[in-house]
Amino acid sequence: MLIGGLLKFSLINYPKKAAAVIFTQGCSFFCHYCHNPELVLKDEFNTPLDIEGIFSFLEKRQGKLDAVVISGGEPTLQKNLIDFIKRVKNLNFLVKLDTNGVNPKILKDLISQNLIDYIAMDLKAPLDKYSKVTNIDLGSKRIEESIKIIMSSNIDYEFRSTLVKSLHEKEDIEKMSISIKGAKLYILQKFVAKVTLNPTYSKKKAFSDVDMLDMQNKALEHVKKCFIR
Ligand code: SF4
Repeated sequence: MLIGGLLKFSLINYPKKAAAVIFTQGCSFFCHYCHNPELVLKDEFNTPLDIEGIFSFLEKRQGKLDAVVISGGEPTLQKNLIDFIKRVKNLNFLVKLDTNGVNPKILKDLISQNLIDYIAMDLKAPLDKYSKVTNIDLGSKRIEESIKIIMSSNIDYEFRSTLVKSLHEKEDIEKMSISIKGAKLYILQKFVAKVTLNPTYSKKKAFSDVDMLDMQNKALEHVKKCFIR
């Protein structure tokens, strides 16, 4: 496991739980608007944190924190992810995984072994224009597979989309929400211009509040719940 960061306390990363958040290094995508270039670009990686140091921190937080969120980068690229999560579960924490959905096989394994309690999966774009956002052409088959695996599981989940005016059309939301038709929860995130993987995106425009509400209403025609974050 290459871990580039640890947030020791968060009330916003796991619904209604106090959590620590672990950020893994490396990603399969290069989303223009990504706010974590230091977790995506090898040249910008920090020296990885010591795994034993993380576990000694978690041991001291047993009974004080409810959950551990494993975020990235893209955590499912980490070779020892399953063993790492087993160790976290042995300490009796809930585990939430943040993923871009690129690795359905790992998701299947984690779910079948009851190793995760909550999944948040990014839905980057309509399936036929994924590469426009992710800046890499991996096709959409893996994304579709991950969606199916998550939606047919019994665990809690959310899909989430960051919407950027120069990458998305308002009309995209229809195809995006149809691709997760019947989903329990869909979160729409307004793009915030700050540090971005593609530096030109730090000045790009977000959708207006009115546009975000229109997109929320459109999404609600296809999913059970949809919130703007
Ligand atoms: S926003 Fe894109 S590039 Fe950044 S960590 Fe997530 S999937 Fe990877």
